[in-house]
Amino acid sequence: MNYKTENIWKTVDAKTEDQIQRFSGQYASFMDKNRTEREFIRSTVEFLEKKGFKELSEVETLDSGSKLYALNREGAVLAAVTGKKKLNQGINLIGAHVDAPRIDLKPRPLFEEKELAFFTTHYYGGIRKYQWVTLPLALHGVVVKQDGSRVNIAVGMNPEDPVFYITDLLPHFAGKQREKKLKEAIKAEQLNVLVGSRPAAEDKSQRKNSELGDNELTPVKKALLKLIKARYDLEEEDLISAELQLVPAQKSRDVGLDGTLLGSYAHDDRVCSYTALRALTAVEKPEKTAAIILVDREEVGSMGSTGMQSRFFENALARMLTRSSPDYSDLLLRETLENSTALSGDVTAGFDPDFAEIASRNNTSLLNHGINMTPYTGARGKGGASEASAEFRSRIRRIWNENQVAWQATEMGEVDKGGGGTIAKFLANYNISVLDCGPAVLSMHSPFELASKADIYHTWLAFKSYLES
Ligand code: MN
Ligand code: MN
Repeated sequence: MNYKTENIWKTVDAKTEDQIQRFSGQYASFMDKNRTEREFIRSTVEFLEKKGFKELSEVETLDSGSKLYALNREGAVLAAVTGKKKLNQGINLIGAHVDAPRIDLKPRPLFEEKELAFFTTHYYGGIRKYQWVTLPLALHGVVVKQDGSRVNIAVGMNPEDPVFYITDLLPHFAGKQREKKLKEAIKAEQLNVLVGSRPAAEDKSQRKNSELGDNELTPVKKALLKLIKARYDLEEEDLISAELQLVPAQKSRDVGLDGTLLGSYAHDDRVCSYTALRALTAVEKPEKTAAIILVDREEVGSMGSTGMQSRFFENALARMLTRSSPDYSDLLLRETLENSTALSGDVTAGFDPDFAEIASRNNTSLLNHGINMTPYTGARGKGGASEASAEFRSRIRRIWNENQVAWQATEMGEVDKGGGGTIAKFLANYNISVLDCGPAVLSMHSPFELASKADIYHTWLAFKSYLES
């Protein structure tokens, strides 16, 4: 047959439209509730447990249809529904990442200048710095005190919460800034977040900040530390053992008049994480074991104990095997990996008429035309890409066609103009057949990314049909 794709909305019936809108609404509220990796993973575990999944250590033996999960800190989770076939005959896996570009606080964040107090920051992932100024930001994360007790912080998403803010230059005096290259106009060290301006009452003395000794507190900082102590029972040093992030305070919203597009922070790649989670929890007694792995750290190269390069995945798989095969051996684990296949779910760049010049000739992704099959990512001559084999592409094409999934075959952008990559190559290192796929977004990595609700729904369908195959 000829290759042909169609805009999903063109032929959508009332029932499907209703399903698409309902799914999008559920996804949007999950996104608004979970702004950080930890929050997303915590809610994922909550959702899994509600659907009858048990922590692996609570499961003694695995039978067909067992539902289980393994948690790695609060940064990664492997969840599975065991199949009728043995584990070492391979699993159908979906991998996706839950981290997103954002602005982190430095280990010693709080400082004061001219009676304004700021948190100084260090950005995480590929942000375009100019997009993060003059924007309401929320502060989310955890602080672990010296005694090991934990304080969860979440300020800025509720309408009654205050927000945080990075300033920008007024246009009247921006002559020089305007001439700078876009990437230099806002510097990383200028991404300081305003946190307060009220001096401590007892510091009304005439002493200037400049006259204070190194270890003496400036008045606004002093007042803020007192407030932080009163409100959260935290000392300044506690902020060192913390993971605090500034994320956009803007909730997910419909974009445009016709209900087709959803704007949200962190579609990349919580859209694949969420649809994978929903797909797995919709699977009952599959032939092969169906599994998803959601990981952190992708935006910084998948390094770290909670990233895809961590041993967590194979460790958890080994623990699963000991519960299904009394004759566990390392070879059995290697066999399981080699016989498995994976979809590496991640977003790609949708065609944007305002930036048409970066589109890959005849291979660009269109919003509303379904999930993208992206055989390879990488840059230049496919550098850094783990390319999906013709055989695996064939299998996925068949599954999606048989299940009426709207899909398109695309590249991320014009050859030699840029590129990207995700966790596929780290799954491929296990000798797993892997294919990149996911919905398109516009304004990727911005504080408010755009995706098509129909594409999100079909990503779910695509994942579900694959896990059931
Ligand atoms: Mn991504
Ligand atoms: Mn990304």
